[in-house]
Amino acid sequence: MERRSFLKKASVAAGAGVLAACAGKTESTGAAGANPKLEWTLASSFPKNLDTIFGGAELFAKRVKELSSGQFIISVKAAGEIVAGTQVLDAVKNKTVQIGHTSSYYYFGQDATFAFDTAVPFGMTSRQHNAWMLHGGGQELMREFFKAHNVVNFMGGNTGTQMGGWFKKEIKSVEDLKGLKFRVGGFAGKVLSKLGVVPQQLPGDQVYPALEKGTIDGAEWVGPYDDEKLSFYKVAPHYYYPGWWEGGASLSFYVNSEEYEKLPELYKSIIAAASMEAHTDMQAKYDAKNPEAMANLMKNGTQLHPFPDDVMAASFKATQEVFAEESAKNPAFKKVFDQWIKFRYNEVQWFGIAEKSYTDFTTSNPWNP
Ligand code: CA
Repeated sequence: MERRSFLKKASVAAGAGVLAACAGKTESTGAAGANPKLEWTLASSFPKNLDTIFGGAELFAKRVKELSSGQFIISVKAAGEIVAGTQVLDAVKNKTVQIGHTSSYYYFGQDATFAFDTAVPFGMTSRQHNAWMLHGGGQELMREFFKAHNVVNFMGGNTGTQMGGWFKKEIKSVEDLKGLKFRVGGFAGKVLSKLGVVPQQLPGDQVYPALEKGTIDGAEWVGPYDDEKLSFYKVAPHYYYPGWWEGGASLSFYVNSEEYEKLPELYKSIIAAASMEAHTDMQAKYDAKNPEAMANLMKNGTQLHPFPDDVMAASFKATQEVFAEESAKNPAFKKVFDQWIKFRYNEVQWFGIAEKSYTDFTTSNPWNP
């Protein structure tokens, strides 16, 4: 009897706490409780046929709906449905939509600092980027930068280390890059320009037609799983690695800052939790699906090559020049870069010990099933 009476008291006390919390929320927001009905539109930078990167926004929206008991609905629109894939920043900034899902480096033309939110040439891997964002001060630095664009940013998936792309002709040395019209995402175009490449920033749905028509000579996208779907191997058989400009490309959810501030605390938490789930899920999906896609591509005549050593060395040198030039003229870039480069320096050395030796051994000893 004593135990039952204690449980009854405890439950009354907990119930009173919940009621008090609800009453406080109602008063402070003036809304209909902590769980108001809300409908948002999300503009994605990606085409629907890419279940990896477009799917990330769908998973996010599904989880937001579930966690809000069906009250917070986010309708996900593909690239081109509301705005073009590379216009998502402006759409969120100007409140054409409340939320977007995109790659920040698409906007490096407005400010190269955006690129740190996604990936920069010879930058960090997916895990190292997570470490920087979540426990290395990266998120604070990027949030401060995004304020001027009316955006609150959340991580929204990662592709892992990308492939270097598809070429119609073999790249045997750095000489073969001269005059090459190459579709490439983000800040890497600035580096490749120094090596004579003519970079083309095309959204995903426009890459294959350009490659097929021959208006471009090569194209990189992500890696085997997405690249197979986009059929690049049919028109450009030489597949190079690694994509040194994307050691791990992180995507982002952009929430308009005024719309974000209007949200009840519960919905702010739901956005944080759902975006983190979508973020984690995307990397797992790529890691799970890439091996089979790579095997299919090889069966279909793909010719796999590492970039020649002189291409890697020249690219690294050009990258360091671009970073120095950008730091000299852009204080926002310099502020992030100076902090980021110290973090990266420690990360790559640590990853060179246990992680590298373990991966080297398991790759050489794959343990045939
Ligand atoms: Ca890419």
